[in-house]
Order: sequence, then C-alpha cells, then structure tokens
Amino acid sequence: DLHNQILDLRGNIRVFCRIRPPLQSELDRNLCGWNYLDEASLEVNNFESLDGKQKANHKFSFDYVFHPKSRQEDVFEMVSPLIQSALDGYNICIFAYGQTGSGKTFTMDGISEDAGVIPRTVDLLFESVKNYKRMGWEYKIKASFLEIYNEVLYDLLSNDQKEMEIRMGKNKTDIYVTNITDVVVETASNLRHLMHVAKQNRATASTVGNERSSRSHAVTKIELIGTHKEKGEISIGSINLVDLAGSESPKTSTRMNETKSINRSLSELTNVILALLQKQDYIPYRNSKLTHLLMPSLGGNSKTLMFINVAPFLDCFVESVKSLRFAASVN
Ligand code: ADP
Ligand code: MG
Repeated sequence: DLHNQILDLRGNIRVFCRIRPPLQSELDRNLCGWNYLDEASLEVNNFESLDGKQKANHKFSFDYVFHPKSRQEDVFEMVSPLIQSALDGYNICIFAYGQTGSGKTFTMDGISEDAGVIPRTVDLLFESVKNYKRMGWEYKIKASFLEIYNEVLYDLLSNDQKEMEIRMGKNKTDIYVTNITDVVVETASNLRHLMHVAKQNRATASTVGNERSSRSHAVTKIELIGTHKEKGEISIGSINLVDLAGSESPKTSTRMNETKSINRSLSELTNVILALLQKQDYIPYRNSKLTHLLMPSLGGNSKTLMFINVAPFLDCFVESVKSLRFAASVN
C-alpha cells in the first residue's frame, strides 16, 4: 500500500513525531489546539481559527507518532534496533528537531528520573557488548562531544579551546575533526561521566543573555570498533546523537548573523535529507558544518532517524507548523 511505498522510498531515513504533554503552567492557561488521530498520522484541525494565514485541515504523516502519554521507554523501544545495528557496523544519526521548548532535550537526554535516548543508548551498548563478547567480539568504544554554534565547532570535553576543523581522511567517506578530544571508555559509568562533563561545559558556555544552548547543535558521537580475532573480522560503526538548535524564527533582529547561520544550518540539514530522499546525484553536504561533519553518517549505507518534537499549544503553533511542514516534505 501507499504507506509501504513511502517507506521504501525513504530507504534508511525515518521520521518520528513526538508531541510532548502540556506542562502544568500551560494547562493553567488552557491553550490546547490539537486534535489527535491514529498513530501514523496527525491531523491539525481548524487552522483558520488558530491562524488566519493557514489553510484548514492539513494532514501530515510520519513513520510513527508518539502521543503525549508515550513514555521514554516506548520511544527507546523504537530506537534500539538502530543502536544494535551500529554494533554491526552501521553509521547512525538520530536528530531531535523542533522549536525551543518542544521536548528535544527531554527526548535526547531526558531528565534524571526519566532518562532519554542518550543514556538509554549507553546502557544498551554496554549490555550488548557483553553479549557480543561471548561470541568472540571485542569492542573499543570511543566518545566525543561537540557543540556547533554560529558555524564554529567547540569541544565540550576541553577547557583549552583549540581551533577545530573538519577534514577528510584517506578514505573519501572518512571525516575527522582536528584537535578533538575523543576518549576511549571502558564502562557505562565512564561514558555517563563524560556526558555529564560535556553537559556542564555546554551550560557554562551558555549564558541567560545569549541562550546559546538553544541556538547551537549538540553532537554526541560514539564510535564502535569491533574486532573478532579468530574470524579476522572488523566492524566499525558509529552513533551520532544530535540535539539541534531551536527551529524558531528570531524574535529580534539584534543578532541577525547568528540567527541567519543557525537557520541556514538547519535548512542545509533539511536540504541534505531531501536530496538523499530524492536520490539526487549531488548531495550538498559541505554547505554547513553540521552536514559536513555528519557526511559519513547521512546517506549511503547509514541510517537516519529524525524526531520532530512538537509542543501542543497555540502560542507555539506557528513554529510547530513549520516543523510539521518540514516533516511533511520529508514524507
Ligand atoms: P527543548 O530542548 O526542545 O527546548 P525541553 O526538552 O527542554 O525542550 O522541554 C521543555 C520542557 O518540557 C521541559 O521542562 C521538559 O522537561 C518538558 N518535557 C518535554 N517533553 C516532555 C515529555 N515527553 N514528558 C514530560 N515532560 C516533557
Ligand atoms: Mg533543549
């Protein structure tokens, strides 16, 4: 049927929508304007009454829709096969896209009582590595943490900022970053500690004034190098977990250059994904730092998952529609 045809067309790219529940403060203001249908489609009714410029009854479809009652474990259940395939040598990219406040960080990091995709990935990886060991596979796990802000790369594990550049390795599909701190981790708690350090460094770089963390992309990269001595086999995979900059338009024009480059890098990401979906010959990877960095993990034999995070309220409505439009065009 049509849905399966769409899935075929998409190849290794999946788009999940996640609608977060209302926060208590928002419920108090009673601003809900969403209507939920089945799990594979989401219909937004009464655009006209919500925003005079929008047409009524747009339909968007996704590979999957997580409704506000979905739990973090429900979300991870849909993500875990990807994590497993990274151990088998695939390059994986998972993005959270949406406006500030839509639940990107909740989805990727979660909160301490309710872990998101990244900490669950860490647990699953180390558990799986234990099982693979019984079959003769030894894994080396390396982690690095980057922030991309205003088209500049920052190492979230280093206080001594050196200039970082994206370079191509000997192999054409091989990309590396100069001066980056990448750490070999032995245990899940090792890796969790590094995540904590990276998070602290990102928070320190961001002040209330410039809201840097909502305007930058945070990239957690985990490399998995497996070797099987008896078989003489090697498996190299990676997982890139990206909490994207907020997709909202700027409210003020005071930092025009900044917002221009942020919007540009998000639109370059969508351009790359659309070009991949349309199987174009030329994929414009080099138009932004983010897509250049992720080049080996977007397209080819890699697997991409995009979360479109949505806040369920009227005051976020126009921005949500923009996120949904992007998702609709990916479909
Ligand atoms: P973003 O990173 O997109 O700016 P956040 O992840 O910080 O948004 O989410 C905004 C607020 O909503 C936070 O207080 C977060 O804890 C809460 N929140 C987001 N998604 C959910 C969810 N699925 N369930 C419960 N609370 C959520
Ligand atoms: Mg966030």
